[in-house]
Amino acid sequence: MNADEMAEQVRMCAACPKMCRHICPTFFAWRSDSPTPHGRALLVHYDNLGVRPLDERAVEVLYQCLECSHCLTWCVPGIDIASIVEAVRERIVAEERAPPAIIKMAETIESCHNPYGEDHTHRNDWVTIEETDGQGIVYFTGCTAAYRETSILTSTTKTLTGLGYNVIVTPDEWCCGSPLFRTGFKELALSQARHNVNVLNSIEAEAIVVTCPGCYRVLTQDYPENGLQLNKPVLHLSQLLADRLDDLPKGVLHARFTYHDPCHLGRHSGVYEPPRQVITRLSADGLVEMQRNRDNAMCCGNGAGLRTLFPEKSREIGAERVRQAVETGADYLVTACPFCKNMLASQSDNSLNVIDLPELVQMATSGKSPNGSTD
Ligand code: SF4
Ligand code: SF4
Repeated sequence: MNADEMAEQVRMCAACPKMCRHICPTFFAWRSDSPTPHGRALLVHYDNLGVRPLDERAVEVLYQCLECSHCLTWCVPGIDIASIVEAVRERIVAEERAPPAIIKMAETIESCHNPYGEDHTHRNDWVTIEETDGQGIVYFTGCTAAYRETSILTSTTKTLTGLGYNVIVTPDEWCCGSPLFRTGFKELALSQARHNVNVLNSIEAEAIVVTCPGCYRVLTQDYPENGLQLNKPVLHLSQLLADRLDDLPKGVLHARFTYHDPCHLGRHSGVYEPPRQVITRLSADGLVEMQRNRDNAMCCGNGAGLRTLFPEKSREIGAERVRQAVETGADYLVTACPFCKNMLASQSDNSLNVIDLPELVQMATSGKSPNGSTD
């Protein structure tokens, strides 16, 4: 979107009767008209007109957006608020006016190659994988599975090995750059991206598989949009598993399951059915949908820097999503994103188990429940 198109979009949005406000998760969290799609567009529109430049409060409101694109589902003229917010954040970063906690997060990724400040040398050095003579596949683990949701990583390597792949996990992978792209640090994101493209292109394998939808989006969209080409296809694990359904156990899990669509996998990448096909294959009783599902699914509250800047509001949104899952009567809330799982599990009590897709596959094949997650 160029500057003129963006100006036209925010002008139209500024005149709208706010048809999407009711679904914006940050309106839910703040109960205020500023952190809404319309509120954000109005700030950018005023700035474009020179009526009122973006001040500190405007920067705060723009960094309260989850970039979940739920508003786009409801917007008849198709105003892409998340892309507009991201573009304006790039300008805010260039003007050195980003919130201090976001700058710190970016500096941490630059120095440690992960947003958690963990030692890069221990990213994947603990992973043990049984070598096979099957088809080679690179598993790009992403930061959250490597450092916070390690049972997703081990469940994935076991699942892929069980399907006959020779799984390669490289200690040289860096953060994919998703937190940097989404918060306006595009140049820094591209330096992470260039490193990853060099590493991944040098490995002999048939494909790259990811479990993090944030990684999936940047590897399949942000990298090529910025002229960075990977030399093998990238699959989200759910897509690979959906292609191998006949090799997964059928109807062995006797419990009630519901599914949370991660924003980067669903609305941003259009991958809705593969995770559902896998759950339906493994479950004896199928899947019960939440009222808000697919392109109308509520964000978990963890995206685009919100948890870094406003952890209480972020958790409030996560708790609401868990409440929606409990309403279905499910025993398990399944998702396909380490970041979503981390948030939703932190907001769930013992009545609802939160689990990621590869953990579900391992539960079906081994009969054991996965380990808990860490905050
Ligand atoms: S994003 Fe679309 S529906 Fe929402 S306020 Fe703007 S124009 Fe209206
Ligand atoms: S992208 Fe999500 S958080 Fe941002 S304005 Fe739209 S609905 Fe609200």
